[in-house]
Amino acid sequence: MNNKNESVLIIGAGLCGSLLALRLAQRGYKVAVYESRPDLRKVAISAGRSINLALSDRGLKALRLCGVEEKARKICIPMKGRLMHDALGNTFASNYSGREGEFINSISRGDLNALLLNEAEKHKNVTIHFNQKCKKVDIENNIAFFIDEETNEEFSVTFDVIFGTDGAGSVLRKSYISERKFLFSYSQNYLNHGYKELEIPGDKNRNHQISKEYLHIWPRGDFMLIALPNMDGSFTVTLFLSYDEGEFNFNNLTSEETITKFFEQEFPDALALIPNIKEEFLNNPTGPLGTVKCAPWCYKNTLLLGDAAHAIVPFYGQGMNASFEDVFVLDEILNQGFEDWNSVFKAYQKARKKDTDAIADLAIDNFYEMRDHVANPLFKEKRKIEMD
Ligand code: FAD
Repeated sequence: MNNKNESVLIIGAGLCGSLLALRLAQRGYKVAVYESRPDLRKVAISAGRSINLALSDRGLKALRLCGVEEKARKICIPMKGRLMHDALGNTFASNYSGREGEFINSISRGDLNALLLNEAEKHKNVTIHFNQKCKKVDIENNIAFFIDEETNEEFSVTFDVIFGTDGAGSVLRKSYISERKFLFSYSQNYLNHGYKELEIPGDKNRNHQISKEYLHIWPRGDFMLIALPNMDGSFTVTLFLSYDEGEFNFNNLTSEETITKFFEQEFPDALALIPNIKEEFLNNPTGPLGTVKCAPWCYKNTLLLGDAAHAIVPFYGQGMNASFEDVFVLDEILNQGFEDWNSVFKAYQKARKKDTDAIADLAIDNFYEMRDHVANPLFKEKRKIEMD
């Protein structure tokens, strides 16, 4: 356990994997990270997957542990509350806290991930391999099987310890199921809603066109739009909408006419700010929203962390924050002097699982809360006037 010559494999260099690599490198382990995608610092990874995120105190606590909080804060935009937009274009502010100076932060996924990769790579004991996709893991013998995405060459590597930080579709988690070595409980539940990202560009001086001090929400009952500010003056807008229910849904919004009609009717003020609405709507992907719960998170010297262990819907803005907190809690357990990795992993799961189960359920509840804010009497009255 204290043998720092042990080799550690991390599958997935996303937000959780890159922070974990940094922390384990700081603790002195030899760390190799294998990531299926190209290096996002060199290649623009296609848009459409939560371009920016809300970073809260839970996430910042883990960044602080790893000495990168201040660097992250430099690329954050503080949001002091939510600004609701009703169907008539009126706005209502609702601050996150009554206390002065409390806010959450809007941060670019790409910039934050790049920061963490840079910090991890500063350590000589870290190597990061891109375009290497894990196909499966022999969890009995700590062997991971990969394919090089550029050459199609297949290879395997053996490590003392393996962490699966490979997101909601985790290959390590799938190997727990397919290898059938133990009783593994697993559930994956999708909402009937998906999401699509759009953009409010900055003005010609790269200034924000609506207040950057708020997370903007256009709640409309069965669907909603939200927008978080970016450093370049733009906002990333996310539409949450049913795939197949209601008058408007992702399955029937397939022509320029229906898209325009939908936005003119429901979000006229937002529509005025999204010049490329039709192209973006038709070309940007529609993503699913799901919750993954499973147990146990570990087998022998392997452990699931981040979304691989507990993917949640984004309505509390806590998926990344919880994944960062995983690294914080694991670090605390590593300080407790256990003799072997499996004991560390079991203690970690015991300390952590109830919290991630709770945030998964809260995130679903908040989906209904945010969406149905339209039930607020003020909003109801406005809609009534509009209908009359
Ligand atoms: P991921 O970010 O999914 O990273 C996994 C990495 O593993 C990726 O780099 C992937 O390429 C790689 N990988 C996958 N498979 C393999 C393989 N087989 N071999 C090698 N590498 C592999 N969270 C917040 O805290 N705040 C928010 O505001 C927020 N907003 C969100 C909005 C939306 C629309 C969505 C969908 C999510 C949001 N989240 C938010 C959740 C957040 O995105 C996730 O919780 C977070 O990305 C989890 O990090 P991760 O590293 O565990 O997984």
